[in-house]
Amino acid sequence: MSKDTLWGHPKGLYILFFTEMWERFSFYGMRAILALYLTAKSRETDNPGLGWDDASALELYGWYTMMVYVMSVPGGLLADRLLGQKKSVLLGGFLLCVGHLILAYDALWAFYTGLVFIVLGVGALKPNISSMVGGLYRTGDPRRDTAFTIFYIGINIGAFSAPLLVGYLGEVINWHYGFGLAGIGMALGQVVYLFGQKHLKDVGNFIPHQLKPGTNERVKLTKVEKDRLIVMFISFAVVIVFWGAYEQAGGLMNLYAKEKIDREVMGFTVPASFLQSLHAFFVILIGGPMAYFWVWWRQRGKESSSLFKMGLGTIITGTGFVLLAGAALETMETADGKAAIWWMFGAYLLHVVGELSISPVALSFITKLSPAKYVSFMMGAYFLVTGLGNKLAGLVGEAAQEAGELTIFISVFAFCALFGLLLIIFVKKLKKLTHGADDVRDEKAVVEPE
Ligand code: GLN
Repeated sequence: MSKDTLWGHPKGLYILFFTEMWERFSFYGMRAILALYLTAKSRETDNPGLGWDDASALELYGWYTMMVYVMSVPGGLLADRLLGQKKSVLLGGFLLCVGHLILAYDALWAFYTGLVFIVLGVGALKPNISSMVGGLYRTGDPRRDTAFTIFYIGINIGAFSAPLLVGYLGEVINWHYGFGLAGIGMALGQVVYLFGQKHLKDVGNFIPHQLKPGTNERVKLTKVEKDRLIVMFISFAVVIVFWGAYEQAGGLMNLYAKEKIDREVMGFTVPASFLQSLHAFFVILIGGPMAYFWVWWRQRGKESSSLFKMGLGTIITGTGFVLLAGAALETMETADGKAAIWWMFGAYLLHVVGELSISPVALSFITKLSPAKYVSFMMGAYFLVTGLGNKLAGLVGEAAQEAGELTIFISVFAFCALFGLLLIIFVKKLKKLTHGADDVRDEKAVVEPE
C-alpha cells in the first residue's frame, strides 16, 4: 500500500474533504442569509438590509442558485481544455475568497460584484473538486464509492453548521459579519488546499487532447466511450426526477411544515426552518453506515451497481412522499387540521437514504465512466442537471397550490417509483453500455492510487 494513505484512503481525499467542507460552509452560510438580507428593512438602524419585497428577493435567489450550477459547465470545460482540475479549483477558491471579501463591504455595488465572483468561483471549483476525488483511485478500485460518501459527509458538515453560525452572526448581529464569516470559511478551505498540494501531485493535472497523427484533428470518441456517455445521460433523467422530489424540502415541505404540522415538541415549538437542517444532519449520521452496508452487500455477491443504487434510491425517496401523504390524510382527521411532526422526520430520513444512494454514487459513476479528457465537463453537466431538478421542484411546489398537497405527494411518489423501477428493470441492459467501467475489479487487494 502506498505510504501516502490514512485510514485506508489516499491522504489527498482528506485534503479535498476539508477544502470542499469549507467551500460548502461558505456557500450554504451565504445562502442561508441571502434572502433575509435582501428583505430586511433598509431603514432599520439595527442591522439594515436592502428592503426588497419578497418576490424580488426570491427572484434573485432563484437566479443565483441556478447560476452557480449553470456555471459548472464552463467550469468543467475550463479544466478539460485549459487548466486541468487542480488549477481550476485553486482559481475557483480564489474567486470565492475575493467574492466573500467584497460582500463583507457594505455597499450595493459590492453586493452585486460579490455575487458574480461567487457564481464564477463555485462554477470553477465545485465540479472539478468532485472529479479530483475520483482521480485519486484507479479503475476498479473498490474504495472509490466509499471515498465519495466520505467526501459527501464533508459537504454536509459544512452545510449543517453554516446556517447556524453564519445565520446567527448575520441575522442577529450584522449581515456583513455573516458574509465575512462565510469568507473566512472559504479562506480556510483555500489554505488547506494550498498546504495539501503535496498529497495531490498526481491528480487533477491537465490532459492535452490527443491529435490524429499528421493532422490537426482531435481523436474522436470510441464506441465504448460513446456507449458510456449514453448511459450517463440516461442516468441524468433519473437524477432530475430525484432532485425534483428531494428539493421540495426548501419549498413545499417547508411551507407545509409551517402551516400544517404540529411543531410542539415537549413544550417547545420547533421553528419550521429548523427542519431544513435535517437533511445534512441525517447525511452525517447515516452516511458511514450506508457506505458500509453497500460494501457488505457487494461482498455477498448481491447487485450493487451504481445504476441499481440510483434506481433504488429514487424509489426510497418516493416512499418519503407516502409518509407525507399520510400526514395530509391526518390533517383531515384532526380538530386543528394539523399532523404530527414525526411524518416530516420520517420523510426527511427516507429522502436522505435516497440521496446517499444517488448523489455521491452519481459523482463516483461519472468519474468511472467519462473519458479522462471529458470528465470535468460531464461533472459540470451533472451539476447543471441537478440545477434543473431544483427548478422542477419549484414548479411542482407551485402546482401544489392548485392541485392540493395530497395529490402532489402521491404524484411525486408515483413518478419516483416509476423512474426508479424502470432503471432497475433495465439495469442489466444499461450495465452492458458501461463496458465494465462500473465493476469493482479486485475486491481484496486495495489498489494503489495512481
Ligand atoms: N447537497 C450537495 C452539495 O451541496 C448536492 C448538491 C447538488 O448536487 N445539487 O454538494
